[in-house]
Order: sequence, then structure tokens, then C-alpha cells
Amino acid sequence: MADTSIRLYISDLPAPGQAFSLSDGQAHYLANVMRLSEGDTIRVFNGQAGEWRAKVFKISRKAALLEAVAQNRLPEPEPDAWLCFALLKRQKTDMVVEKATELGVSVIQPIITARTNADHVNLERLRAIATEAAEQCERLHVPEIREPRPVTKLMADWPARPLYVADERRTSPLLGPATGPSALMIGPEGGFTDLELEAIARTPLITRVSLGRRILRAETAAIAGLALLLAASP
Ligand code: SAH
Repeated sequence: MADTSIRLYISDLPAPGQAFSLSDGQAHYLANVMRLSEGDTIRVFNGQAGEWRAKVFKISRKAALLEAVAQNRLPEPEPDAWLCFALLKRQKTDMVVEKATELGVSVIQPIITARTNADHVNLERLRAIATEAAEQCERLHVPEIREPRPVTKLMADWPARPLYVADERRTSPLLGPATGPSALMIGPEGGFTDLELEAIARTPLITRVSLGRRILRAETAAIAGLALLLAASP
């Protein structure tokens, strides 16, 4: 009976004493990769329940039943920050999703622009990447990953939320830490079109911000920008 350091995200965690089963992938991981047996404990978490130690009480090669036994962490506030970024090639998109999760974003909104090559993503795959990153970095929440949307549409119904638009020309002030709900927007490598820039400029609550003197690759800009935005957040 071992206390393992394994940490898994469980979207619905029932009350202590009630059994819950793991997804096929999680059960496979515990049974066949980590070779857990009955009586071993892991940590399970989600944003509403906090984090719990949970005991394995039935495990086979394909299924696992667990039961929450003791709470390790209460639910806690996390930053309310969105990342909107022009879709990148698959590997770079994967990296941005992983790093944005580690840095603490609450929502990831891919955007489509006239000069973006990709226009669709495998949301399931990105959600799995975000879930693994949350498990690894000790977060309680997994960020929500939204369907990609054209930037003009996103701007047309933008909510009452400050939007910091990363602008590589050197005239904007440096992005500082957010004090409340916020969003950061990173443009495409090829730049926004005039039409897109107009749609952005018409949106209330936008501020153009700089991320320093050098022109960064979009993925670098996303990571560096979130570090600046979230450095002082809970
Ligand atoms: N087309 C541009 C580069 C775009 S870089 C050119 O070659 O000149 C991709 C995105 O990264 C930009 O749209 C912007 O959102 C962000 N970015 C890169 N460097 C930045 C900087 N120094 N300050 C703010 N944003 C930056």
C-alpha cells in the first residue's frame, strides 16, 4: 500500500466514501504503466472539489475504482485571464497550450486570421495536453479550450473584459500585471490585415502593449506575455 505522488484530474468527484471510476486512459496508466494495486493512493483534483487523496479499491488492466479519503487542498482562486492567439502549426500550438496552462490562464481561445494558415484544431487533443499540464504543475483548474474563431467575429461580441493586444511596433507601453479579469491577444506571424486591425481598434477596453524591444515569434510572445500578465496573480 503505497502513497504515490500521482496526480490526476477528475472532472466530477463524488463525495468521500462514494466510488468513482477513472477514464480508460487513466486506468491504463495506473494499472499498466505505474502498476498500482489495491490500497495504493493517488491525488485527484478539480477546481470545484480542490484536491483529495484517493484510494484505489479495485483495479484491473482496463478499469479502476477509487474513493476519495481525505482532502489535501481546498478549492482556491486562480487568475481569470484568457489567451487569444492566432493559430500556429500543430507543434507550436501544442506548446502554447501547455505553457499557457502552466502559467495559469483560465480560457484559451485560438483565433483565425486572414494570414493564419491553420483554421481547425483537434480540441480533444488540446484538452488532453492542458489536462496533463494542470496535473503536472499543481493547478486545480484545467483551462477551457474554445473552438477557433475568426478575429473579426471575436471582436464583434467581445465581452466587458480588458484586452491587451500585443503589438510588436515599439510605441506601446510594456504589458504589466493584471489586477482583475483580463485577456491577452497574440497576432499571426504574418501580421493582422488592415480590416482586422480596424475591428480590433473598434473594440472597447483594448490596450495595445509591448513585450519588449525585439520582435518575438508568436509562441515566444504568448509565453512571455502571459508571464508578464500573470506574475502577480494568485
Ligand atoms: N509580422 C510581424 C511579426 C509578428 S510576431 C513582423 O514580422 O514584423 C507575431 C505576434 O507576436 C505579433 O502579432 C504580436 O502579437 C506578438 N509580438 C511579437 N513581438 C512582440 C513585441 N516585441 N511586443 C508585443 N508583441 C509582440
